[in-house]
Amino acid sequence: MLNLESNIKFIKGVGEKRAELFYSLGIFDVDSLLRFYPRKYEDWTNTKTVSQVNDGDHITIKATMITPVKEHRIKRSMTLYKCRFSDGESIINVTIFNNKYLAQALRIYEDYVLFGKIDKSLTSASMSSPKIEKLDTGVCIHPIYPANGKLTSNAIAKVIKTALNNLDEIPDTLSNDIKTKYNLISLDSAIRQIHIPKSEEESYKARKRLIFEELLTLQLGLLKLKSTKKDETAFVISHDFTDEFKKLLPYRLTNAQQNAIGECIKDMQGRYPMGRLLQGDVGSGKTAVAAGILYTAIKNGYQTALMAPTEILAVQHYEGLLKTLQTTGITIRLLTGSTKAKEKREIKAALIDGEIDLLIGTHAIIQNDVAFSKLGLVITDEQHRFGVKQRASLAEKGHGIHTLVMSATPIPRTLGLILYGDLDISILDEHPPGRQEIRTDVVDSRYHGRIYKFIKDAADRGEQSYIICPMVEESEEMLHVKSAQQLAEELSETVFKGYSVGLLHGKMKPKEKDNIMKAFSLGDIKILVATTVVEVGVDVPNATIMVIENAERFGLSQLHQLRGRIGRGNKKSFCVLVSDSKNEASLNRLRIMKNNSDGFKIADADLKARGPGDFFGERQHGLPKLKIADMLEDIEILHLAQSCAMDILKEDYNLNLEKNQYLCDAITKMFRDINY
Ligand code: ADP
Ligand code: MG
Repeated sequence: MLNLESNIKFIKGVGEKRAELFYSLGIFDVDSLLRFYPRKYEDWTNTKTVSQVNDGDHITIKATMITPVKEHRIKRSMTLYKCRFSDGESIINVTIFNNKYLAQALRIYEDYVLFGKIDKSLTSASMSSPKIEKLDTGVCIHPIYPANGKLTSNAIAKVIKTALNNLDEIPDTLSNDIKTKYNLISLDSAIRQIHIPKSEEESYKARKRLIFEELLTLQLGLLKLKSTKKDETAFVISHDFTDEFKKLLPYRLTNAQQNAIGECIKDMQGRYPMGRLLQGDVGSGKTAVAAGILYTAIKNGYQTALMAPTEILAVQHYEGLLKTLQTTGITIRLLTGSTKAKEKREIKAALIDGEIDLLIGTHAIIQNDVAFSKLGLVITDEQHRFGVKQRASLAEKGHGIHTLVMSATPIPRTLGLILYGDLDISILDEHPPGRQEIRTDVVDSRYHGRIYKFIKDAADRGEQSYIICPMVEESEEMLHVKSAQQLAEELSETVFKGYSVGLLHGKMKPKEKDNIMKAFSLGDIKILVATTVVEVGVDVPNATIMVIENAERFGLSQLHQLRGRIGRGNKKSFCVLVSDSKNEASLNRLRIMKNNSDGFKIADADLKARGPGDFFGERQHGLPKLKIADMLEDIEILHLAQSCAMDILKEDYNLNLEKNQYLCDAITKMFRDINY
C-alpha cells in the first residue's frame, strides 16, 4: 500500500529510472503526483459509427482490427504502419506514423476505440495517426497532462491510476462544516475525480473543490503573513503639518495629491495603524505625497522609513528629499547594499539613538539587524516589486506602525484583494499641470537614420534621450547586457561621435550605475543606452526622447513604465517604438501605446492581450505558484474562499484546533517553497 509521502519510485511500473523523469516535473512523492492535475480532458464516451459522421469530424469510433499491420519504410526517419479496422458497417484505413510501439501492440480481431479526425469520401474512410486504446479501457474521459518529452501524458495517466488504486482514503484538509457550507465534495473524491472523471459534472465538482482549497490556503497564508493591523497604534499623529510642508515645495500640490495626503493623515490620527495603498500612474507625483506624509509624521516626533526597490531609485529619493527638506533640520540617511560597513554601523547606532528621522533605502533596511527607536511610518515605493513577505517583515519592525505602499501598476481588483485585502486605497487620478502629452510613434528599423538625427538635434538643443535595448529572455540577461554594450559602443563611434553616450545595465555595480545616473541627470551624458533598469521611477525632466528597440518584445505595462521616464518636464517629448515585427497582434499592441496615455487603460488592454500570467507572475508578487486556480477566472470561488478564511481565523486565529491541522500543513507547504 502507498501513502501520500511514498516516493514515486515505489509505485508499480515506475522504478528508479522513470522516477528521474517524474522528478524533472517536480513530482517526488505520491502527494505531488496526485496534485499534478490534467491540463484538459478528451471525452471518448460519445462513440459514433462512420456512417454517422462527416468528413473532417473529430470522432470516437469503436472498431475491430481486421488486417495485420503492414510496415512501410519511407525513409530512414519515417516508417508508416497501415492496417484496417471495421466498425461493423464501414472499413477505416488507419495510418500510424513512426509509432512502432503502438503498431506492435495492436492485435488482429481485437476491439479498439479510435480517437481523432476522420477523412471520408464516398467510397472510403481513413484516419491518420488516431489515438488508439483497447475497447474495455478506452471509452472514458481521458485526462491530458502537461507532458514533457520522454514522459507522455498517457504514461503519467497510467502511473496516477496505479497510485490511486493503491491508496487508502486521502485525509481531508477541510472540515465537514466548511464542505457543507460551501457545497464541496471530499478531498478524496476530488482527487480521484479530477484524474478519472466519469462525467463532465464530476470533473467540474472536483475542480471546484480543489480550486477552493487552493485559494483558501493561499488566502489564509497571506492573512497570517500580514501585519497585525488590529492592534492599536501607539503612533498617533496629533498635528497635521501639511500647510507647513506645502511651503517647502516649488509647485502647488494637485487636488489629488492633497486628498491623498489628507486621507493618510486622517488614518494616522485614528486609533489603528494606517494600512494604505497609493495608486497613481507614472508621473502623477506620488513622491510628493510620500514627502508630505513623512513630514507630518516626523514633525510629530516619529522616525520614518522609505523603501525603494532599486538602489538607483533609493538614491534618487534621497537626493530629492534632501533638497525638499533641506531647511527643516530633519535628519535623512541613505542605507543600501553598497553602503560601506563603517557607515552602516554608524547609521544603525544613530537609528537606535533616534537621531535619524528618515531612513531611505533598498530592502537592506528591513534586514534583521537594523533597529529603530520609535519607527512610526514606513512607505514602500513601487510596491509591485516587493514580495508580500518583505512588506510583512517591515511591519514587524514596530508594533502598530503606519504603512503606505505606493504603486504605479494599476492592479486588477482581484489581485488587489489577494495582495492588499487589508489595505485602504487612495488614487492619484490627476497629473500635475503643465505636462506635455508624449507623442508616441511606431516605426520600423528603416527609420533609424531619422531617429538618430532627431536625437542629435535634441542634444544640440540641450535635451537628452534614452535608447532602450532589445529585450531578451530573462535567462539570457548577459545577452541583454551585451547587446546594450555593443549598441552603446557602436553608436558612440559612428552616428553619435562627438556626443556623450552613456551605458546603463543591470549587471553594473551599484556605484557605477549611480555615477552614470548622476551624470545623466546633470546633463553630462546626453544619450543613455540602457536596458530596462531605468524602468522604475527615475526622474530626469530634461530627457525628452525615448527610443525602444524591438518594442514588440516588451509588455505594454512595461512600455508604459519606460515611457513614463520622459515627458516629466515642460518640453514636448517623444517616444519611438521601433519594431520590425510583421505580426499583426504585436503591432496592434504597440498601437495601443500610441493611442493611450492612461496607464489603467493600457494595463487593461495588456491583461486582455496577454492573459493574467504576467500580472500574477508569482515571482514578481512573491505569491506562491498556484496549481489549479486562476485568480482572474475563478474570482467567484476566490470571494467564497476569502470569506471562509475570515471565518476560520475568527474562530481559531492560530489554527490550533484539531479540525484545522491539515489546512495548517497545507499552508506551510504552499509557502515553504517560495524564496522571497
Ligand atoms: P511618480 O508618481 O511617477 O512617482 P514623481 O513623484 O516622480 O511621480 O513626480 C513626477 C514629477 O512631477 C517630478 O518631477 C515632480 O517633481 C513633479 N511634480 C510632482 N507633483 C507636482 C505638482 N503638484 N506640480 C508640478 N510638478 C509636480
Ligand atoms: Mg515614483
